[in-house]
This record gives sequence, structure tokens and C-alpha cells, in this order.
Amino acid sequence: MNTLTIKLGEKAPQRIGAETVVRYEQNGASLTLRRKYCKSCVLCVDACPAKILQLDQDDLIYVTDISKCVFCGACAGRCPDFVFIVDSGKGEK
Ligand code: SF4
Ligand code: SF4
Repeated sequence: MNTLTIKLGEKAPQRIGAETVVRYEQNGASLTLRRKYCKSCVLCVDACPAKILQLDQDDLIYVTDISKCVFCGACAGRCPDFVFIVDSGKGEK
């Protein structure tokens, strides 16, 4: 599986394939999306306090603005399909 790493301030490509794992990094924290497991249920969209999760044109989850992520792990806790790996820099959720 390909991994696309996006650091704070970098722009994500407009379209990201389902097979690509997306890893956002900032200040020692990271949020990883294994998008191919996404079932488009939007439970994570409602759970995210920063309101930065949306479905893309392929109905797979993506992050609209990673600079607003607080690495709380609510998305990982809510997703039934283990799409998210959240590491706040103090351990994974
Ligand atoms: S870690 Fe928290 S703020 Fe970041 S995307 Fe997940 S729910 Fe939203
Ligand atoms: S909770 Fe998981 S399966 Fe549901 S939309 Fe979010 S990432 Fe996709």
C-alpha cells in the first residue's frame, strides 16, 4: 500500500485514490487514514469536534484542514472500520 505523507502547511492532492494511506504530520503528532476501509457512514464526521472530516467525491473520508485537528482520537473511537490511527505524540489512539 502506498503512503502519502502530508506535513503541516503542505496541500493534499485534489484526488487521492482509495488504496493510498494518507498520513498527516504536525509537531510530533500524526493522523493516518486507511481510506480503503471507509464505508461512508459519517459517524466520524459527527464526532469530530473540529468539524474537519468530510466524504470526498469517491465517498471516502478525508480531512479538510489538518491545521485544526486537536488529535483527540474521537474519530478513531467512533469509526467501526478502523480507518484512523491517531498519535498525539503521547501515544496512539
Ligand atoms: S483527532 Fe479529533 S480533531 Fe482530529 S480529525 Fe479526529 S476527531 Fe477530528
Ligand atoms: S466512521 Fe469510519 S467508516 Fe464511517 S465515514 Fe468515518 S472513516 Fe468512514
